[in-house]
Amino acid sequence: MEHRRCTHCRNPIRHATPIFVHADPEPSWFHPDCWAVVLAAKQKEYDEQIEVLGLDGLLAPYLKPAKEPAALMSSDPVPSL
Ligand SMILES: [Zn+2]
Repeated sequence: MEHRRCTHCRNPIRHATPIFVHADPEPSWFHPDCWAVVLAAKQKEYDEQIEVLGLDGLLAPYLKPAKEPAALMSSDPVPSL
């Protein structure tokens, strides 16, 4: 039987309902407890970013482009007029 490993603590996940996260480059799995730790760390990071950057920090997660601008330009150059 296959056991997924928790991305946070690297231990096998036997919990009935592990947390699944769509992440790059591979999907991630977490124990619910570990996911809570990861989320708390992310939230703290976000709060600190807002303190430093103000509104820009608040909006940063919502303004990220789907692809890196450089990747977009190299694969599909926009003609200049
Ligand atoms: Zn874990």
